[in-house]
Amino acid sequence: MKQILIHYGELSTKGRNRKSFQQKMAEHIRYQTRHLEKIKILPHHDFMHLQWEETPYEDLIEILKNIPGIQRFEPVYPVERDFAVIRQAAVHLFSDLQLDSQASFKVVAKRSDKTFPYDSLAIQREVGGDILDAFPQLKVAMRQPDHKLVVSVQQDQAYLSLTSYPGMGGLPYGSSGKGLLMLSGGFDSPIAGYEMIKRGMALEMVHFASPPYTSPQALEKAKRLTGVLAQYATSLTFHEVPFTKVQLAIKDQVPDNMSMTVMRRIMLRIMDRLVIERKAHAIINGESLGQVASQTIDSMRVINQVSQSLILRPLISADKNDIIDLAQRIGSYEISNEPYEDCCTVFSPKSPWTKPRLHTILEYEERLPIQELVEEALAEIVTTEIDRHYQNPSQQAFTDLL
Ligand code: ATP
Ligand code: MG
Repeated sequence: MKQILIHYGELSTKGRNRKSFQQKMAEHIRYQTRHLEKIKILPHHDFMHLQWEETPYEDLIEILKNIPGIQRFEPVYPVERDFAVIRQAAVHLFSDLQLDSQASFKVVAKRSDKTFPYDSLAIQREVGGDILDAFPQLKVAMRQPDHKLVVSVQQDQAYLSLTSYPGMGGLPYGSSGKGLLMLSGGFDSPIAGYEMIKRGMALEMVHFASPPYTSPQALEKAKRLTGVLAQYATSLTFHEVPFTKVQLAIKDQVPDNMSMTVMRRIMLRIMDRLVIERKAHAIINGESLGQVASQTIDSMRVINQVSQSLILRPLISADKNDIIDLAQRIGSYEISNEPYEDCCTVFSPKSPWTKPRLHTILEYEERLPIQELVEEALAEIVTTEIDRHYQNPSQQAFTDLL
């Protein structure tokens, strides 16, 4: 039988909510492993225990790295809680390793069950001695050993482990409510989504598209970015909001330098309605203070003013370089870097007003049938489900041919 122990991190501080947090994490693991053999999931107070038979460790490891709420996890070898058995098993484990003649090692013992007659130091000393006797070519190294054996003695069992993997940290998916992510094709919004997933928020995507001024590739880009985020979530609901009529009406009635402000305010009116319809708790966007004209502090105030919702901006203080680094790590960089724009030059103002005044914006908004435009956009939303295997239709057709 193969086994992994998962260590929770922040979740373990959650007192009486712990059960529901554990349940969310178990559900998430169950979802992401649904194509594999059935994995037994046993939640304990401080850790979660996974057991299964056939699937290679690597397959589970790749999945667990992307499950929020996990601090770290380790494949473990359970042994009887008997010192002689533990010592034998430790030597046996080392005999399975590819040991270089110069390799170094260290034994770390953790005794959470204090009734065990040997303390941590004694366990380390004895087990380390046995390993040295069996493999005299090895050296002991306290710092940066090539092999670190952890012996953990619990109430009913002892566990040996040689490797520990870092997890994503954060909180289990769906334990912090649901947010609607305003997803463009750029670098920022997918990262904003990732940050909220990490804090336990379940997401739905909202993408505003203005065909034929924006291309089908731009829409596909947003969908593929959703596929990337789905690696860290479950399958994700994607709403495509038709925005061409709004854009044309603004272009017709609003001076160029104010169009961006009005456009964002209409997006937010639509978002507010979706928050209610989708029973969400918040809107999430990728704004970062001062990054572009719509993100100056004055601009953000005037845009924000139209919304009744809680708007979360996880990247508000982030630097672009850090955002790009994270995009590379989570796998969204290549897609965001593609040239297709979600907003086209036709609707992009030459020099947007960076200090818009609310009363002037309101005057121009009166010229637009905003209520109708909002209703119409809402009525024509196209909703799809996207999972982590998402490929765009043409790619799919190509794969099917092979
Ligand atoms: P991003 O890299 O996420 O595109 P940006 O730096 O290009 O952000 P803006 O284009 O001003 O900045 O957009 C700010 C935020 O508004 C985005 O992060 C995103 O959350 C939202 N947004 C912009 N365009 C769209 C769109 N077409 N559909 C949905 N949300 C959008
Ligand atoms: Mg953008």
